[in-house]
Amino acid sequence: MLLDAIARHASQTPERPAYQNRTQTLTYGQLWRAARALAVRLRAGTGPVLVCGEKEAGMPVCFLGCLMAGRPWLPVDPQQPAERLLKIRRLSGAADVLCCGSHPAAAALGAVQAEPLFGAEKLLDPAQFAVNPARDAYWMFTSGSTGAPKGVRIPLSALENFVEWMLGLPAVAACGAGVNVNQARFSFDLSVADLWPTFAAGGTVRALEGAEQGDLPALYEALGRSGARRLVCTPSFARLCLCDAAFCKDLLPHLETVFFCGETLAPRTVRTLEKRFEGLRILNAYGPTEAACAVTAVEVQGREGTLPVGRVADAASRLLILDEQGRPRPEGLPGEIAIAGPSVGSGYIGGEAGGFGTLAGQKVYRTGDEGVIRDGLLWHLGRRDRQIKYKGYRIEPGEVEAAILAWDEVRAAAVLPLRSGGEVRGLAAAVEWEKNPPDPAECSARLRHTLPEYMLPRRWRAVERMPVNERGKCDFAALERMLEDE
Ligand code: AMP
Repeated sequence: MLLDAIARHASQTPERPAYQNRTQTLTYGQLWRAARALAVRLRAGTGPVLVCGEKEAGMPVCFLGCLMAGRPWLPVDPQQPAERLLKIRRLSGAADVLCCGSHPAAAALGAVQAEPLFGAEKLLDPAQFAVNPARDAYWMFTSGSTGAPKGVRIPLSALENFVEWMLGLPAVAACGAGVNVNQARFSFDLSVADLWPTFAAGGTVRALEGAEQGDLPALYEALGRSGARRLVCTPSFARLCLCDAAFCKDLLPHLETVFFCGETLAPRTVRTLEKRFEGLRILNAYGPTEAACAVTAVEVQGREGTLPVGRVADAASRLLILDEQGRPRPEGLPGEIAIAGPSVGSGYIGGEAGGFGTLAGQKVYRTGDEGVIRDGLLWHLGRRDRQIKYKGYRIEPGEVEAAILAWDEVRAAAVLPLRSGGEVRGLAAAVEWEKNPPDPAECSARLRHTLPEYMLPRRWRAVERMPVNERGKCDFAALERMLEDE
């Protein structure tokens, strides 16, 4: 279905831009041809293909080539420390690594430059495309609570189910084949909501590069030129955009819909957007990487108070609220949000079960989110574990703690969120040192070798003895209070 739709655009509107970044434009004709050329080469191998790059026009070509060849793509961000990228490569067992653009990390990964492969003469015959819906379409790594990044496998059937569902949302359908602005890095599953529904609809993805996102005037210029009808982003990104009054309808006169996902959407953000963009449709969508990007959404413009995260009746998969024993609870009672049906991924790389399981013969994923269904709407009530969302990034404190605990002079470490005004503003690390603590800059510099920037604690607090609760375990609540008092 997905490949058929893109094939149709490549043959009917080959000159239409499929993908644009700051300097490059890739038409449907070019995307399709280059991906078929790459697919010939990819078909000669097996297993996942690591794709390293930022927003280069070669990135969607690599993903599409993988889709045609039947090999899962595994996008990685070259800004991450080489050590972490090598860990991901090892955990995934990927034999092939492609790189787009020029990135120092690519050399450490032993990557092959992708762009020269796009011009090969031999093209994969569509009759040879891998269309088995049960095989994996992509793999994506998120933060892992056991100290290492965790890889999720998403089958083609789940990806296609997601695309069909998203294009069926009236606020998304209203954007037709227009321009969709992409904020998320491709190593973050929110980007799935940019690329594939837009390509399936024959629209254009305008990908925002890191340098554009880090500089407000450049960001506004890029947005102003984009002609965007849809923006897919995290609430954190919208807050950044909204910090200047220039982010308004004059800048984006065609903007019809904002699709939010990945973290809590504050009513204040919605109100400000409504004021600046009259008639804007604002979707709050919900879902974990483990269930193909997003499974439910609801339009929240005009709503007061806490916002729901989806309409249960038209979700991409079945939503359930489970009790402590894993039994479905009736509407109105809180419990763990679980997802059952076609969105659910094939599992974790390496076979760890985590929240994956079955319920009445159906694939199910227990999200670790606390929620409730009321009036046909899903409400997110928080996490049942210590997982943190910071700037839209999913962080398991356990992964940061493991990196700190790897140092000889550390006896115990606890990582927790720094909150202000109800929002996470960064991470703090409380550490019990064997001897005199190094200074915080030295600690951060050491961690930078193993963890991405957003996982680095901003505050370091040396503790003589880690507080423990009545069960003898680290008392995180006491630590949070300790940090609040500072
Ligand atoms: P990720 O796998 O990075 O997409 O993160 C998934 C997690 O993000 C979910 O399990 C939730 O905890 C959180 N999340 C996703 N969407 C929302 C939302 N709309 N509101 C609140 N939390 C969300």
